[in-house]
Amino acid sequence: MQYRRLWARAIGVDRRVVIEAVDVDESDESIVVGCRLRVNAKLRCGICQRRSGRYDGGEGRRRWRALDAGTTKVFVEADAPRVNCRDHGVTVAWVPWARHGAGHTRDFDDQVAWLVTHTSKTAVVELMRIAWRTVGAIAARVVADARVLRDPFDGLERIGIDEISYRRGHRYLMVVVDHDTGRLVWAKAGHDRATLQCFFDLLGPERAAKIGLISADAAEWIGECATTNCSNATLCLDPFHIVRWATQALDVVRRWVWNTLRRMGLGDRAKQLKNCRYALWKNPEDLTDRQANKLAWIARHNHRLYRAYLLKEQLRLVFQHRGDEAIAMLDAWLQWARRCQIPAFVELYHRIKKNRAGIIASVTHGLSNGLTESVNTKLRLLTRMAYGFRSTDNLIDLCLLDRGGHCPPLPGRP
Ligand SMILES: [Zn+2]
Repeated sequence: MQYRRLWARAIGVDRRVVIEAVDVDESDESIVVGCRLRVNAKLRCGICQRRSGRYDGGEGRRRWRALDAGTTKVFVEADAPRVNCRDHGVTVAWVPWARHGAGHTRDFDDQVAWLVTHTSKTAVVELMRIAWRTVGAIAARVVADARVLRDPFDGLERIGIDEISYRRGHRYLMVVVDHDTGRLVWAKAGHDRATLQCFFDLLGPERAAKIGLISADAAEWIGECATTNCSNATLCLDPFHIVRWATQALDVVRRWVWNTLRRMGLGDRAKQLKNCRYALWKNPEDLTDRQANKLAWIARHNHRLYRAYLLKEQLRLVFQHRGDEAIAMLDAWLQWARRCQIPAFVELYHRIKKNRAGIIASVTHGLSNGLTESVNTKLRLLTRMAYGFRSTDNLIDLCLLDRGGHCPPLPGRP
């Protein structure tokens, strides 16, 4: 094999590119592969690849960092003239080995993208000999490229909407996942209606009309915004959040009982109650012996608190059933809670009654935010990894790369 063909292969270019010369740059001992484009690949718009008229020589000859040859850095070098595209105006001409505006070859970008989703920050930076900020920019290019090829908004039918907080609750991301593929579809910084509306604006009314089910946490504005935009969708409320409401109500009762006991001069009993929080919170099957004893003690000595506990447990059980059975259980629970005479749970009764349709949709379709929760766990890890990127957009690109199914295979592998 001719050495030119060999180098063409090594830097990942096809017959549209002619290798002119291979030299060593003495200043940093790197290998520089000089290239030129064949006539039919020349002078195309960097954005749409349409053949365009030459505008000027741009900044002359340019270098793109390619994958190393062994331990030696490799650069591709070529002219980078500018063309005048009918649609995009003056742009730097297209080259087959790199993405538009990139200082690295496509293979280099892809390998960095693959590594950042498979290994640590330090490993990527050390191995590829690039700055962490550059990794952010590469993630952005790779994701943008992948989303042009495959629009993740196409064919959406069942979505989950949630918000995650990071940097100790100072920053928020709104996220949308596709329940059918398990992928992260969209994310944006912020947590308000206007932020979420951006998603629906991108989606457009035609595709929004095809969405049949939406799972969301119980923040009312999320549900409202989603159902306003997707006229055919049923909103499923997340069981996890509903159970959390019940746990909060139980805690209100516990504190109330504790205060009452203290006021009555029954300090000892109050003390016993103070340490039973976990016994009340945990699922009964997960209780330790000590916690189970606590619970038995509450059952004997504090009927009101124990009833509140049973109400919480009964509501939790609703979500372990499906369809008609779950609906019957939910309605029985509503009847019980309505007459229970425990203010926190009467309040919860009104809240659940108001959201009954969303809860029924959830137990009927079995759609929960479990998927978004698991995506969120991963995203929180990524928010820590992304520290040092130039912008939140780079963080979102990293998330989409990892959870959006946009990570390319390693270059040169099928
Ligand atoms: Zn163009």
